[in-house]
Amino acid sequence: MPGQTTRSGRARRRAPARRYNRIVPNILVTGGAGYIGSLTTYQLLQRGFEVLVVDDLSRGHRQNVPPHLLRVVHLQETAALAPLLAGVDAVVHFAAFIAVGESAREPELYFSNNVGGTLSLLAAMARAGVKRLVFSSTAAVYGNPETIPIPEDAPLAPVSPYGESKLIVERMLRQLDEFRGLRSVALRYFNACGALPEAGLGEQHEPETHLIPLLLRAVDSGEPVKIFGEDYPTPDGTCIRDYIHVTDLAQAHLAALDYLLEGGASGVFNAGTGRGQSVMEVMRAVEEVTGRKVPYVIAPRRPGDAAELVADSAKLRRTLGWKPVRSDLHRIVQDAWEFYQSARAGASRP
Ligand code: UDP
Repeated sequence: MPGQTTRSGRARRRAPARRYNRIVPNILVTGGAGYIGSLTTYQLLQRGFEVLVVDDLSRGHRQNVPPHLLRVVHLQETAALAPLLAGVDAVVHFAAFIAVGESAREPELYFSNNVGGTLSLLAAMARAGVKRLVFSSTAAVYGNPETIPIPEDAPLAPVSPYGESKLIVERMLRQLDEFRGLRSVALRYFNACGALPEAGLGEQHEPETHLIPLLLRAVDSGEPVKIFGEDYPTPDGTCIRDYIHVTDLAQAHLAALDYLLEGGASGVFNAGTGRGQSVMEVMRAVEEVTGRKVPYVIAPRRPGDAAELVADSAKLRRTLGWKPVRSDLHRIVQDAWEFYQSARAGASRP
């Protein structure tokens, strides 16, 4: 049994790769050079899965993937995908554009990349006979929900082309379940955040639009971050979100794979913690972790922001046996801060 040494120096036994009919599963990860994709790839490798990553590097980072596992291919290149799918047991599909604001400015780009790219992948999977898929969906499929926490059967009413593009794929997957026998799990992500600094993996979007990296940048640079609205109907007037540590989110993908490889039926699952925190609460956590004040200004509301988005995650816990273990807000911010500092030190090295 291979052992591993933790940062504290304690020897830890690595979880054995679960073997299905004594064969180690072959997994193709699209978008594995991105934030959540690279963390999931890392955990798949830790578990002993065979992994190949497809990424066109338009938004991902080459250094996030072991070079021998990376194939630089655009998802729309169906013919180039087909040979990579030979012998694959399941696909974990992250590759997509994710910025709500950008999707409002360039809806065609989002439908082309997120829907068109997925369609091409699904066609290549059909040709190769690959019948299992874990799909990155989003809480944005709910739009402005009427009930909090949000159950999976809440009305689906996206208010951005990004959210719509993900819902269209979920709908395609329902049809492919029926007419192609494709079994899929769609994970509707809430707010992924945090990092795995010991693996050198974390959030590096350009431009960055997410709250925690922007708060850390503000602490570091002294340039104020904009707080988008303090007049929401919430206790402190700022928006409430369900912040889930990226390693817990990655773990949900492994649980989904186990479930599908063991013959589980298709389904959609909220991937959140079930706990909400306001922008001000996140800011306070950043101040406690960094020991510095966050410079900020109150700005107008950001179009499309719902006041509160918190998952009802009971279905994921119950069906996939998943639970968050690293999603405490302090832990999230500590990991994000450690990663931010090392990425910055790396960027300033000649
Ligand atoms: N937010 C903010 N200032 C920023 C970025 C985000 O006040 O510069 C707020 C945003 O309005 C939302 C929360 O932080 O209420 C989380 O936003 P983020 O973009 O990180 O994720 P989203 O909830 O949009 O997926």
